[in-house]
Amino acid sequence: MRAQILDGLKIRDQVFAELNEEIAHLTAVGVRPGLAAVLVGENPASQLYVKSKIAACEQLGMASWLHTPPSNASTDYLLQLVADLNADNQVDGILVQLPLPAQVDSKRVLETVDPAKDVDGFHPVNLGKLVSNRPGLVACTPAGCMEMLRRYNIPLQGANAAVLGRSDIVGKPMALLLMHANATVTICHSKTPDLPDVVRRADIVVAAMGKAGYVQADWIKPGSTIIDVGTNKVTDPAEAEKLLKNFPQRLEKFRVRGDVLIGDVHPDALFTAGALSPVPGGVGPMTITMLMSNTVKAARLRRAGSSVTVGR
Ligand code: NAP
Repeated sequence: MRAQILDGLKIRDQVFAELNEEIAHLTAVGVRPGLAAVLVGENPASQLYVKSKIAACEQLGMASWLHTPPSNASTDYLLQLVADLNADNQVDGILVQLPLPAQVDSKRVLETVDPAKDVDGFHPVNLGKLVSNRPGLVACTPAGCMEMLRRYNIPLQGANAAVLGRSDIVGKPMALLLMHANATVTICHSKTPDLPDVVRRADIVVAAMGKAGYVQADWIKPGSTIIDVGTNKVTDPAEAEKLLKNFPQRLEKFRVRGDVLIGDVHPDALFTAGALSPVPGGVGPMTITMLMSNTVKAARLRRAGSSVTVGR
């Protein structure tokens, strides 16, 4: 039997429809949610990410601003830019695209963002609120994984969850969110012995390691839910043949394009899991969706007070 596909594009469309409604209510009381993006230098991947974030704002009728300091921008320059955005009442969300160039003190820049405008959820104030389970802005990728689990009615209370990876932006917040939802969480990392054993006992696996197809299909507990956060570009033909031997159409596409996007979970997991988020088309679209959702939430909390109550 094949796993149910947890379709990130479908959920994005549902959430966008809800956000459209909330944005209309906010606009009616004079609050047009707006996101300011800071893109330093010319990293092609970062340019692509920021472009799609701005496009999402436009699709939803939100305001957006793109600041593009040169790659040799100093920490002081960026601190001033962030301070200006903090002071601008029209700006509800500030997104500093990472990675920043080596000469920039990234931590100082991120910590200067007003926590009320920290739509990436990276500020220590928002991380602290997450730890103590108080309302705040939550990092977009883990928030997107939770939204996906919620909308597909995956039971979390009492479930055994394994989070593979402990980064500040995915693994750690993900583990906290699952714990607050009453799952019993095991956090794994590169020093965890016998990862297959942990995965075999898990009802829910969130894989965020950055290792193409690392989690093998026969580690997976039959019927469990797999959230695959990994996005790994595979270009080696031998590796692609091995990963996609049961997916001839994808393999054919690889042969034409020369690369393929693979998650951290082996594609054959489709034949063991009960539900699975595909790569691409799973967690990826959820990240931008939650960025939009966080920006609207930030606008509502900071500017609309209690006059608008639509939405979450
Ligand atoms: P990261 O900062 O590199 O962290 C990777 C984590 O995986 C680390 O905690 C590392 O352990 C752990 N790890 C590495 N090898 C392992 C192994 N063999 N067994 C168990 N744990 C292992 O990565 P990240 O930023 O969290 O991102 C993870 C993946 O998600 C990447 O593929 C990234 O591209 C993707 N991602 C996707 C989205 C999206 O929107 N779809 C968003 C963010 C990230 P140590 O701590 O011991 O080193």
